[in-house]
Amino acid sequence: MRLQDKHGRFITDLRVSITDRCNYKCVYCRTGNEGAQYSELPFADYLRLVGIFVGLGIEKVRLTGGEPLLRNGLVDFVRDLSAMRTLDGQKLDLAITTNGHLLSELVQPLKDAGLRRATVSMDAVDAEKFARITRVPNGYDSVLAGIRAAKREGLEPVKVNCVLLRGFNEDQIVEFARFSREEGVVVRFIEFMPLEEDRVWSPHVVVSMDEILEKLNQFRPVRQLPNELSETARRYTFDDGKGEIGIIAPVSHPFCGHCSRVRLTSDGKIRTCLFSLLDHDMAGRMYRGASDSELTDYVRSVVDQKEARHHIGEAGFIKPSRSMVHIGG
Ligand code: SAM
Repeated sequence: MRLQDKHGRFITDLRVSITDRCNYKCVYCRTGNEGAQYSELPFADYLRLVGIFVGLGIEKVRLTGGEPLLRNGLVDFVRDLSAMRTLDGQKLDLAITTNGHLLSELVQPLKDAGLRRATVSMDAVDAEKFARITRVPNGYDSVLAGIRAAKREGLEPVKVNCVLLRGFNEDQIVEFARFSREEGVVVRFIEFMPLEEDRVWSPHVVVSMDEILEKLNQFRPVRQLPNELSETARRYTFDDGKGEIGIIAPVSHPFCGHCSRVRLTSDGKIRTCLFSLLDHDMAGRMYRGASDSELTDYVRSVVDQKEARHHIGEAGFIKPSRSMVHIGG
């Protein structure tokens, strides 16, 4: 039986954080501390844990972090994952979310090993602004090279994620629209969520979907494209069909009702929602000797408890116990 929660949602999508270290210190994500807060597992252990999920109907696996490209041995791990088969006998839909800094060197071996898709985070198409956001000098050219290399290698559609923060980069909306049209990539604007290490989130800092659409429409009329129910982004193109923009609006237009995701943190804990107040220690069970069938039962019982929805913006909202970089975005 495939994984389903008590709200009737089928879970087909697993995000695996393979480190919570990162080489960027984005202002809206990290305090600027270096290094990891939680442990990393050997790849062989992630492989076993992912295998349990795949045996329960997971079809998409996205590697994330922290910054996943910092892990040595990643290419071999991708090769091992690509040898797995879904319950229907298909290859996994294997993707990565990365800041792109090291992507241009790694993209070809990753593609050869079986990676299918790449999402690169980039919060400005302006080198100086980019450096101010990431707090790393001279990263912009490397990321741009990474995006172009992913495109060249055919990791399509290449998606570029941009988190918008009022007062920081909302002036980049139109610039990114041009970028999407010129580079042939999907640009996705993400509403800022209260998942940062510092306490900078407030509803006022969030640039909402309606505001983004208004700015895009001033540039060129947009029209909506069809999307799958479980897709997080609403998809748009322009009147001439050139360029694609996604808007991920968990704050102003939550999509929890169609959520098909669970997460595994770098230290092997299951998180059923980005805003979970609890972790579920799957790796701990594995290290204490649980069999595959015991781990399978455990995953079922955890997923069954998946939260109905997040409570951002509601009175009594409690910030989750981990920030985005330590959960895996
Ligand atoms: N290092 C990789 C990267 O930069 O894509 C993967 C991890 S990062 C935590 C994953 C995504 O989460 C990035 O696109 C990042 O911009 C986004 N993110 C981080 N903090 C966020 C927040 N508070 N709200 C919305 N998105 C956030």
